[in-house]
Parts: sequence; C-alpha cells; structure tokens
Amino acid sequence: MSKTKILNVGEIETQKQKYIIEKLRKEFENKYKETNKKKTFHVETFGCQMNFRDSEKITGILTQIGYEEVDTEEADFVIYNTCTVRENANNKVYGRLGYLGKLKKENPDMIIAICGCMMQVPEVVEKIKKSYRFVDIIFGTHNIYKLAELIELRLYSKRMVIDLLTDAQMIVENLPSERKYDFKAGVNIMFGCNNFCTYCIVPYVRGRERSRSPEEIISEIKQLANDGVVEIMLLGQNVNSYGKNLDQPMTFASLLQRVERVEGIERIRFMTSNPMDLSDDLIEVMKNSSKICNHLHLPIQSGSTRLLKLMNRKYTKESYLELVRKLKIAIPNISLTTDIIVGFPGETDEDFEDTIDVVKQVGFDSAFTFIYSKRTGTPAATMDKQVPNEVCNIRFDHLLKTIRESSKDSDGGEINSIQKVLVEGINEQNPELLTGRLTNNMLVHFKGENHLIGKIIPVKLIEKKRFYYMGEIPNQ
Ligand code: SF4
Repeated sequence: MSKTKILNVGEIETQKQKYIIEKLRKEFENKYKETNKKKTFHVETFGCQMNFRDSEKITGILTQIGYEEVDTEEADFVIYNTCTVRENANNKVYGRLGYLGKLKKENPDMIIAICGCMMQVPEVVEKIKKSYRFVDIIFGTHNIYKLAELIELRLYSKRMVIDLLTDAQMIVENLPSERKYDFKAGVNIMFGCNNFCTYCIVPYVRGRERSRSPEEIISEIKQLANDGVVEIMLLGQNVNSYGKNLDQPMTFASLLQRVERVEGIERIRFMTSNPMDLSDDLIEVMKNSSKICNHLHLPIQSGSTRLLKLMNRKYTKESYLELVRKLKIAIPNISLTTDIIVGFPGETDEDFEDTIDVVKQVGFDSAFTFIYSKRTGTPAATMDKQVPNEVCNIRFDHLLKTIRESSKDSDGGEINSIQKVLVEGINEQNPELLTGRLTNNMLVHFKGENHLIGKIIPVKLIEKKRFYYMGEIPNQ
C-alpha cells in the first residue's frame, strides 16, 4: 500500500500558490479570448543579486498567470522590487512612483505593486499608504511566493492589499521562475543574516538566517544543468553560515563538495563571504576544486580593528590578513575583491591609515568603495563623531588611488596565455565584439560569432586594460 507523503508547511504553501496561479491563468485565458489582448507586466529591480533572483521568481509567477513581459512601465501590471540599503535608494523609488501615478490616471485598470526590502520598513509603508494611495499591492521580502494570491485578492477586493511578515515563517520551494540567462544562474542557498553589522539594515529587512535543504539546492542545480546552465552563483547574505539551522547541520564547505559533483555544471561561484567565519575547510575545498572559480569577494569594510568592533564585524585586521595569506598560499592565482566603507562614525586618521595599509598588503583586484551614509534604523546612524563630508571625500580619493596602485597592474603573466572564458553576450559598447568572463571574474572582449554565447571557450589574452582584457579566439 503506497505511503501518503506528509507535506510540510512549505510544500502545502507551494500547492496552494500553484492552485491560485492555475485559477488566475484560466481567468486570464478567458479574458484573452474575449479581448484578444494579453495583459502585460514590467518588473523593475533595485539592489543586489538576491533581489534579482527574487525578480526571476516574480517574473515566473506573472508569466505563468498569463501576463506578457514588456520593457516599459506602460504596462497593465508594474512591480518595483526595492532595495533599502541606503536612504537615497528610497528617494529614488518615491520619485519613480510619482511617474507611475500619472500612468495610472491614463490606465485606471493598471495594477501597481511594490515589494522587497524597502517595504519591510514600517515608516515607509505608512508613507506609501498616505502619499501614494494609487499603489495596489505591498508586500515584503519574506512572501514573494504569495504574489499570485495577492493579485487575486486585489482583483476581487479592488482595494489596496498589504501583506507584510516581520520574519520569514517558511521557505517555499518549486514555484515558477523565469531565468534571465540560460547559461548561468543564481541559486539561493540561504536567506537572512544574524550578524547585525551596525551600519547595515539587511538583518532588519531580510530576517534571521535560514538555510535551504541541501536536497532542494542540489535538485535545483541538477535541473539547471539539464537546462544547459554551465555556471552557478550560490547566493546568501553570508554563505559561510550556511546550514547552521538545518535539522542536520551542514557546513558550506560540505555543500560545495556536493555541488561540485553535479554533472554539467562547469563553474561555481558564491557570494557573499563574511571574513569572520571563512573556514580552513572552505579554503581546502576551493583549493582542491576543479569547478570553484578562483575569485573571492571578501568584504573587509575597514582595516582598523577598533572600527571593526564599532561596526560589530567579528574579525580583526590581523585575522583578515592571515585569512588572505592562507588563501594566497592555497590558491596562488586567486582574485580578491572587497567592500570598503570610508567615514564610518568615529573613524580617525589612524583608523583610515589601517585601511590603506590593508589595501596595500592585499592588492585587491578591485573594490566596491562607499562613503558611509547614515541608514535610519541602524545603530551606527545614532553614533556620535559622524565624520565631516570634506574629510570623507579626501579619504575616499586617497583610497581609490591606493586601490588602483596596489591592484595587480602587472598582467601576471596572463598576456598571450589561453584562458577559459564563459561567453556572456554581445559587448554593450561595441556590438562587433563579444564579452566573456574569466574564472577570476575579469571580463574579456573579443571578436566572435553570436552562437558562442553561453559556451566556455579558449580565448587568448592579448592586452590588459584597467578592469578588463582584450582577447582573440586562437586560430580564428
Ligand atoms: S553580514 Fe553585515 S553587512 Fe552583510 S548583510 Fe549581514 S549585517 Fe549586513
């Protein structure tokens, strides 16, 4: 006698959402038969790779319902997937909402939805409810999976629908998703963050850390490999903390070893790694892997141990440099990139000199650099000794110059070598060229046929520029 499978809450939710999607799809189909006009949608995504991955899920659900994607906000359904990492990100969205309000006057049946990190901030939702009453649906980061249900509610109630969870209650798997690329893909391995760096709003809007089961991750990657994907990016706010909340805890290093065994996947990337818990096991797995790319993004934020403490970053200048020393011994040609904040409250000249010293010692290939900006709702926003702008600007310029000077400007012997390149598309500046990516994440531009897009091919590097190479396909 066959055993009935007991569904967990996540699986029940998946079934429920699939049922609603199917119901709406039939309604849209009937409408289409009457009007011979498909409803259109447009997704606007702000922020990080986690948001872009969520937008692929939003696009998948809307497409399954029967909407058709268009590249303009003059659509029947427009959704903003927002970011709130910096205060001015909010202002950008308010500005754009004004324009959407005008469009809705011309198309009253238009549905406007907003989701993402910004909606997890209660003051923001109050402002939308008061000043942007034409918005139809508001939801957050924890219930992207509920989009179909919220659309149904809006269509029936004809009223603003707000559905916000303060923290995630479950991970809902196996809902539709439209991938942006068919040769590379982002795969969430975990959500949320428990680190509470004092300048960061993410833990308040993305909730507590929860990891996906390794089985779900591996089955998704196997499906991607079957679909022709050759490169995956494992995504998490801090991937090193993967697996801690699982019934059977598992390390990120062990997960990587399982991912490595998936046939068809040729390249593995991951972000973001917090230096506080990057383990020796992980370095060993990276060293012995034939698929993990030799690029690591390792945000340091500041080189001053005193400031790292104020940032609640749980490592020191010395431990960070020791980590880099180990990485370079294990993977000599590793490319290291980082994030650095200048002007964190209380930053002194000595603190800043420590940052410069780390940059000189490490020789980052590139870095995302930011002047500290207050983020209401974070502890740092109320700290005293905010650094004056003119001081921040001087330090910022000095930092950029130091990064430029200390990054490996030698060609590292790569010129005239033949390297494996994943061809990612037609060059945006020069359509006669293709653009591809080396395993160290550097871009290469070269002449080639469009059918090579999505393939990993050998390319000879002939010239190194600041942030990319020029290349040629050998014997072409
Ligand atoms: S590790 Fe720190 S900076 Fe990164 S998401 Fe978590 S709190 Fe923010």
